Amino acid sequence: MSDKLPVISIVCPFFNEEDGVSLFLKETSRVLNEIQKPFEIVAVNDGSEDSTLEKLFNAKEEYPELRVINLSRNFGKEAALTAGLDSAKGEVIIPIDADLQNPPELIKEFIVQWQKGFDVVLAKRNNRASENITKRIPAKLFYKFHNTISNTKIPEDVGDFRLMTRKVVNSIRKLPENQRFMKGIFAWVGFRTTTIEYNHVKREAGKTSFQGRKLLDLAIDDLTSFSIIPLRIWISIGSVIALISFFYGSFIILRTLVLGIDLPGYASMVTMVLFLGGIQLISIGVLGEYVGRIYKEVKQRPSYIIENEY
Ligand code: UDP
Ligand code: MG
Repeated sequence: MSDKLPVISIVCPFFNEEDGVSLFLKETSRVLNEIQKPFEIVAVNDGSEDSTLEKLFNAKEEYPELRVINLSRNFGKEAALTAGLDSAKGEVIIPIDADLQNPPELIKEFIVQWQKGFDVVLAKRNNRASENITKRIPAKLFYKFHNTISNTKIPEDVGDFRLMTRKVVNSIRKLPENQRFMKGIFAWVGFRTTTIEYNHVKREAGKTSFQGRKLLDLAIDDLTSFSIIPLRIWISIGSVIALISFFYGSFIILRTLVLGIDLPGYASMVTMVLFLGGIQLISIGVLGEYVGRIYKEVKQRPSYIIENEY
């Protein structure tokens, strides 16, 4: 690496991306060389089980700006990104995916916007055609739901691909939580922001790590990190049920006083008991989710461990 401090830090998490390494480095460094500012590429190997690390390591000769941070195991993309942000040295930091779904060409436009004085430049996908419908619709619903119940609004169709100045990244690094949902954290810190649009492209090589269960986990992590409405809602639901029960109870008592005892009613009783049982279990489940998060946070484990930097 050169002695000069880099102006631009590219931060890229790698998890089983052996087929994409060389193309990614080629494309990214081509664009960066055209920008003509000192740069570094911080590649975080997130416990890949294939030859990603080896490929990155071997590429260091050809790309002196490449730094390889090797995590001790797979900590997940959010943690890998955190590791990258922590060790990036540039004045502006640009997280990017290794699969070239975020076109490196856009970095030029990022820099233009930064020079206009913005602290954050977001890249908004103006199409999700590159992803299949099973991912598109849940994503859409997720953004809607998140933004309804959380005060931290996440801009729709904006991923981690963005430019942030040192100021912004330093603020992010000050947040002590170790379960890091980066999209939410990015949005939470604020700063002067602008958005540019781009075409999301198909994955160049390898396959996506986020599907089905993993996406659902991410969504739950996010909602519980950035909103306590799932906890509060039970106050409203409970109050409504209590109110209805009160009126219904009064009605039954009155009816019994006027018309005498009328025994049938087994079906309605069973229904009610089961319904309330269900509601209670759900609310306890939600409570448990939050308690679980508190438990994980109070242990204060780091969100990642670095095996070595190469
Ligand atoms: N990734 C990672 N750790 C993981 C899963 C993914 O570092 O546990 C990286 C992956 O190598 C890629 C980026 O995160 O650079 C985005 O992953 P992917 O393309 O699978 O997600 P998608 O684009 O499908 O949302
Ligand atoms: Mg991808």
